[in-house]
Amino acid sequence: MTNIKRERVVIIGSGPAGFAAAVYTARAQLKPVMIVGPQLGGQLGLTHEIENYPGVPSMGGMDLVEQFKQQAEHFGTELAYDVVESVDFSKGSPFTVTTTDTTYLADTVIVTIGANPRKLGVPGEDEGVGAGVSYCGTCDGFFFRGKEIVVVGGGDSAIEEAIFLTKFATKVEIIHRRDSLRAGVALQNRAFKNEKISFIWNTVVEKIDADANGTVSAVHLHNIKTGEQWVKPTQGVFIFIGHTPNSDVFGGQLAADDAGYLITDSLYRTNVEGVFAAGEVQDQVYRQVATSVGQGVGAAMSAIHWLQEHEDQLQPLESVAN
Ligand code: NAP
Repeated sequence: MTNIKRERVVIIGSGPAGFAAAVYTARAQLKPVMIVGPQLGGQLGLTHEIENYPGVPSMGGMDLVEQFKQQAEHFGTELAYDVVESVDFSKGSPFTVTTTDTTYLADTVIVTIGANPRKLGVPGEDEGVGAGVSYCGTCDGFFFRGKEIVVVGGGDSAIEEAIFLTKFATKVEIIHRRDSLRAGVALQNRAFKNEKISFIWNTVVEKIDADANGTVSAVHLHNIKTGEQWVKPTQGVFIFIGHTPNSDVFGGQLAADDAGYLITDSLYRTNVEGVFAAGEVQDQVYRQVATSVGQGVGAAMSAIHWLQEHEDQLQPLESVAN
C-alpha cells in the first residue's frame, strides 16, 4: 500500500536551488521534505570543480553538495531518496506529489527539479552511451585515460569539461558549430593555452560510428561553411550542448515556455498558487550555482510568506495519517 505523508513543504529536486530552499524553510521550522531525485545535488553533484561560488574559492562539486546537505539536515530537512512520478496540482493545496513509494500531500511545493543534458540527436548517439558517448566528464573521464577524444559544444560546460578531460585523454578536439566560443574569456584562454586541446570550427557531428564491439570508433563531421564532410576516428564523444528542463513530470499543470522552462514571476510563483519554482527548471539564462541558490532562497521566502498568509485556510497536518 502506498505510504501517505502530510507535509507543510515538499521540495522536488536536490540541486543548489533545492538545498537553498531547504535551509530557509527548515530554519522557518517547516520541516521540509526534499525529494532527492536520481542524482543527489543534481548537476552540481556531477561537476568536477566549482571556483565561482562566492566564499568558496575552489571545491569539488560533490563536496559542496555534502556541505549543502549537512546544513539542510542540521536545521531539520528530511531527505527522501526517491523520484517524483507524477503530481496533481489541480485541486489546490494540499498538493499531491507521488513518488515511487509515497504520496505526499503538501501545503506548498517548491520545484527545483533542474535540467538534463541536451542530446545531439544523431544516429549512433543513443547506442554509444556507456560505450564512448558521454555527457559527464567528471563521471566518465577516467575511462578515457590515454585515449583521443572529441568534445562537442562551445559554451562554458564544453570548454570546462574539455580542460578537465585533458587530465585523462592524450588529445581533446573541440568540435563547435561556429567559429567563436560562447564560453567565458577566462575559460577560453585556458583552453587555447592547453597543448592537448585543439578546435574544429564551423563543424557539426552528423553520425557516430561504433566498432564490432559497439564501442565508439569515429564521428562523421560536416563543415557547414565549406561543405566538407569527413570521418574522424575517435575513442570518445563528450557532448555539452546545453540542457533541457525536467518539466515533463508536471504534465502541463505548470505553465512552461516552448523549450519547457517553467514560467515564474519575480517572486518565483508558478501559475498554480502555492507552487513555486527555482533554479534551472525555470532559468535558461544564468544557470550558475550562485544564481540557483539565490532563486531557491527567493522561492522559499515566497513559500514561507504564502503559508503565513493562508494559515487559516490550510488543512491541519494531522488531517491525514502519516
Ligand atoms: P550553453 O551556454 O547553452 O552552450 C551550449 C553550446 O552548445 C553552445 O556553444 C552552442 O552553440 C552549442 N550547441 C547547442 N546546440 C547544439 C547542437 N544541436 N549542435 C551543436 N552544438 C550545439 O550551455 P552550457 O555550456 O551547458 O552552459 C549552460 C549555462 O551554465 C551557461 O549559463 C554557462 O555560463 C553556465 N556554466 C558556467 C560554468 C562556469 O562558470 N564555470 C560552467 C558550466 C556552465 P552556439 O554557441 O552556436 O549557440
